[in-house]
Amino acid sequence: MKAQVERRSLAVRPALKTAAGELDRRELLLLRLEDGEGNFGWGEAAPLEPYDGVSDRECLAALERQVEALEACPPDARGPQALEAAAQGSALPQALAAVDLALWDLAGRRDGRPVLELLTDRRPAAVEVNATVGAGEPGVAAAEAAAAVEAGFRCVKVKAGDPEDIDRVHAVRAAIGDGPAIRVDANGAWTVAEAVARINAMAGAGIELVEEPVHGADALRDLRARVSVPIAADETTAEPGALAGDVADAVCLKVSRAGGISGLLAQAELARAGGALVYVSSSLDGPLGIAAAVHCAAALALSLPCGLATLDRFPEIDPGVLAPVDGMVAVPAAPGLGVDPAP
Ligand SMILES: [Mg+2]
Repeated sequence: MKAQVERRSLAVRPALKTAAGELDRRELLLLRLEDGEGNFGWGEAAPLEPYDGVSDRECLAALERQVEALEACPPDARGPQALEAAAQGSALPQALAAVDLALWDLAGRRDGRPVLELLTDRRPAAVEVNATVGAGEPGVAAAEAAAAVEAGFRCVKVKAGDPEDIDRVHAVRAAIGDGPAIRVDANGAWTVAEAVARINAMAGAGIELVEEPVHGADALRDLRARVSVPIAADETTAEPGALAGDVADAVCLKVSRAGGISGLLAQAELARAGGALVYVSSSLDGPLGIAAAVHCAAALALSLPCGLATLDRFPEIDPGVLAPVDGMVAVPAAPGLGVDPAP
């Protein structure tokens, strides 16, 4: 099997504020795989160090070890065999995701079918997505949320984790009326005591769920017993055992963190077996990662909206079929993942 890695660097506008400073460029690693018959597929690695602790350098080194293992595979190796070989090279999920996506893309292109058709008999045409409102000044957040609802979104995720959290959430509710759902994401910024106080102070605004209010399985479990608003685990799902336990009411899964489509579907099964609802999101993935997540979300028939409406942060990219319309993103219908790699 032939393999080739390329770097892509995309401008991020507006720049994303993170705990580690402003992110104004997104580095992606693209992988092109080709089998012995000339069929090819593209995958994408999208580590984001401020968020998942995996540097571009670490991810590239892992991907290079996986590529070496893939090149040693027979040219007609099929998905599971090639993925297993790559994982022997390195098990780093952020790099393995590129291999897994490329293998699914290749399989779909070879068969002339979209990845969704390889995953399930279900044929949803689109998946529901949420808009994201940054942790800005309450009036600014309210205006952003109102614009999103005007554009057709029925769920708005409001970033939290600073002293204006409570005012921001109430301002957003006042701006969007009673209909749309509000989801709050604190990225683990609160202690359990802070989370109890803030969630109770926000609850009157009507909250669909609070994502990663505190970090760690024990803290989430503790908090969940003390508030009535549903709690979702995001970053904590990377903790060993966190998916299988009674940690949260819902879990947010990501293609990059799960090691690709195969890993995400396995994680979803585990979480659902434990009684949790599932939804899918990304950390500023490129078009291949977003497309893969949309195929997963469609295959899983999710009831919660997904955080996959982020491609408009990349001015160099035309989201094409992945542009949200009335709060929905279409499942790409072209063979494979159904999108081209980032230009
Ligand atoms: Mg989150």
